[in-house]
Amino acid sequence: MLLTLTTTHQPATDLGYLLRKNPARSQSFSLSFGTAHVFYPEATLERCTVVLLVEVDMVGLVRNRRRPSGEGGALDQYVNDRPYAASSFLSVAIADVFGSALSGRSRERPGLVDRPLPLHVKLAALPCRGGEKFLRSLFEPLGYRVAARRLPLDETFPEWGESSCFQVELEALLPLHAVLSHLYVLVPVLDNDKHYWVGDDEVEKLLRHGEGWLPLHPAREAIARRYLKHQRKLVDTALARLVDESEPDPDSSAESHAREEEAMEQSLNLNEQRLGAVSAALKSTGANRVLDLGCGEGRLLQALLKERQFTEIVGMDVSHRALEIARDRLHCDRLPPVQKQRLRLLHGSLIYRDQRLAGFDAAAVAEVIEHLDAPRLAAFERVLFECARPKAVVISTPNREYNVLWETLPAGQFRHKDHRFEWTRAEFQAWADGVAARFGYHVRYLPVGPDDPAVGSPTQIGVFHID
Ligand code: SAH
Repeated sequence: MLLTLTTTHQPATDLGYLLRKNPARSQSFSLSFGTAHVFYPEATLERCTVVLLVEVDMVGLVRNRRRPSGEGGALDQYVNDRPYAASSFLSVAIADVFGSALSGRSRERPGLVDRPLPLHVKLAALPCRGGEKFLRSLFEPLGYRVAARRLPLDETFPEWGESSCFQVELEALLPLHAVLSHLYVLVPVLDNDKHYWVGDDEVEKLLRHGEGWLPLHPAREAIARRYLKHQRKLVDTALARLVDESEPDPDSSAESHAREEEAMEQSLNLNEQRLGAVSAALKSTGANRVLDLGCGEGRLLQALLKERQFTEIVGMDVSHRALEIARDRLHCDRLPPVQKQRLRLLHGSLIYRDQRLAGFDAAAVAEVIEHLDAPRLAAFERVLFECARPKAVVISTPNREYNVLWETLPAGQFRHKDHRFEWTRAEFQAWADGVAARFGYHVRYLPVGPDDPAVGSPTQIGVFHID
């Protein structure tokens, strides 16, 4: 089986340092089930490609009674797709041959380890049980551009039909260790099989290699199920721990946000004014089907439900606890059927592409962007404006200039400790103008709350729309 990895990061030959494999040499490594070869078909300063070629010794595997799982008779043990189809054998080879790169260590280039690099991955034959749609649902939320071509069973006998294998190309701007971890976990998930017995330690492996991306992945349940070979107990353990790991931060931030900021802003009754302004801006776009992204405890949803113009209202938040509070506030279990049909709450994160968000007229993102740090903000921009792409978007965020008028707020501090930034009007508008230009939207700005001649209003809103 064949994995090819190319970078155009400059100098591209840094790839050799990150992988700890010298581009000038071709090397072979003995594995428990065969041999892995590593070589570089090209290694210039502009472009560097490494190949991992894994040979599976089927005869050796059968002799050692380590035959791959699966049905079939005697012949099947020797003649099958395992030598060429990417599978858990490839994951083991990645861990054995590129172990330090996979775990994010580099003696020679430590500064490059977490740096997003332009990377192109090619898998010559990847079994995709679940088809191209499933393949995309795994990689696209992680920021990959995916190209896939289904391979025929045998090119010389087209009448035999198609195989379950695809030739797959993935392109992304991500740290190398992230790409290797994604492949390590997702290749066997796509194959939906493993060549070895899956026990408790497999849960640890999944969580370790899934760190930083799996807890919030929209397909995390399917990933855990397949990775753990559908063993209910293991899957339940993994999912419970994934939820734990994804939550503490957003939950505490949502809750403390709600309390602290609320107290400070109460004097102005800013919250009410903001809800009114966002709801009015949504209405003015003529939208019927609307999203409230980062809906928190559901105050805006409550206001939107009162407006009959909105026929479908979907709230999404990364915090389970906030969603539970929203469910209580909105009396979700006691709503009359007509109202119930209009409202849905989703658990999800705004930094991953999510097909559930596609096809809406408008989206509100109220007091959320200031909770996202810079790389996540960039991911959010694409998730919302490129992938979900509602016709209109209403974004509200604090105006930092106004903070000087708050007596209780010490100079230079943000309104809430979870805020990663608070923007001046000029900063917000520069960001929003850029987003609008990049994604083909127009944007206009509205103040919310008392509009001071020098420092403006406490909250600022950007209303984006497509022509
Ligand atoms: N929109 C609400 C809540 C604002 S508080 C209001 O105006 O009252 C910010 C909310 O954003 C919190 O509920 C927090 O859980 C949510 N949030 C933060 N990061 C998120 C992410 N990546 N995806 C989805 N929601 C997120």
